[in-house]
Amino acid sequence: MRHVIIIGSGPAGYTAAIYAARANLEPLVVASSVEAGGELMNTTEVENFPGFPEGIQGPDLMAKMQAQAERFGAEVLYDDVVSLELDGPVKKVTLGSGKVHEAASIIYATGSAYRKLGLEGEERLSGRGVSWCATCDGFFFRERTIAVVGGGDSAMEEANFLTKFASKVYVIHRKDSLRASKIMQERAFANPKIEFIWNSEVADILGDEAVNGLRLRSTVDGSERDLEIEGLFVAIGNDPRTHLVHDKLELTSQGTIWVDGRSSRTSVEGVFAAGDVIDPTYRQAITAAGSGTVAALDVEHFLAGRGEAGEPAVADSPIEGLPDAAVV
Ligand SMILES: Cc1cc2nc3c(=O)[nH]c(=O)nc-3n(C[C@H](O)[C@H](O)[C@H](O)COP(=O)(O)OP(=O)(O)OC[C@H]3O[C@@H](n4cnc5c(N)ncnc54)[C@H](O)[C@@H]3O)c2cc1C
Repeated sequence: MRHVIIIGSGPAGYTAAIYAARANLEPLVVASSVEAGGELMNTTEVENFPGFPEGIQGPDLMAKMQAQAERFGAEVLYDDVVSLELDGPVKKVTLGSGKVHEAASIIYATGSAYRKLGLEGEERLSGRGVSWCATCDGFFFRERTIAVVGGGDSAMEEANFLTKFASKVYVIHRKDSLRASKIMQERAFANPKIEFIWNSEVADILGDEAVNGLRLRSTVDGSERDLEIEGLFVAIGNDPRTHLVHDKLELTSQGTIWVDGRSSRTSVEGVFAAGDVIDPTYRQAITAAGSGTVAALDVEHFLAGRGEAGEPAVADSPIEGLPDAAVV
């Protein structure tokens, strides 16, 4: 039986793996069969992860995190978890291959998925003008004309935030009134850089190498017109990936996994959660990584309380000629 199985290989999962491996807990990371590395695999330049002053490509950052976890002995499996048994002291994790792994504890770090429009150009132009995260990508759109799709609080927040960079922000909404709270609406209406396009949906995202426009369709009469823009922010919601645990762990009203205060402890003993799957608000790589740290430390304390903590790991010295060192 394992000390800990980590489900998910985004910044939360790999950071938890680095800490757990260095504590000699020999973690198994179930990384997923097709989406290993998490959401940053879908982006190009990451400019806000500390330690990379020139920026780093999302997939390169995730490869480094994985290498760091493996250096200390984390085992990474490219498979999907299809079911979980979380009750009792032995947790059972069933994979797509049919293999069942057992562990004394679980770190659940499956992230969350931005809702998509479902248009062909959306994936193709992701990172080339299409984004789901103003905090991550707003900076790339200085003095550009861009659009935000959505009518809720997060769409208004993104639109207001983006006016710090963009010269003009269109907000495209299917209806003639917003779902957003009154205060968020008022703030957006008062912003001179924001223009609302009502009763319209995005029918197509235009551009070969990068976004250069949108085809809009009227929700009233079906007529179409093109709008010239250089960036599209999709802000129509976010779904925490809780499908494996929605009937096993307590969830919050926002659909994230409930954790006890600032810890990663879920409603089931021995099960810990980290990253975007517990975070309705910040959803950044660095906050997910910090959350992974919390989960690994919580697991260490949990196992130590059961007399199951590991000995410190010994890593190969990164500096040639120096002896290998015990790391704590
Ligand atoms: C296009 C894009 C650009 C972004 N740019 C930035 C940026 O520049 N800076 C920044 O800080 N943040 C950025 N973000 C946000 C950032 O990617 C997330 O906040 C972060 O990845 C969350 O980390 P996580 O580990 O919680 O989840 P994720 O990265 O989503 O990882 C979750 C992992 O769980 C795995 N998983 C899910 N279900 C299963 C299962 N059943 N079995 C096995 N594995 C499973 C997934 O495959 C994935 O590997 C961006 C997001 C997107 C979508």
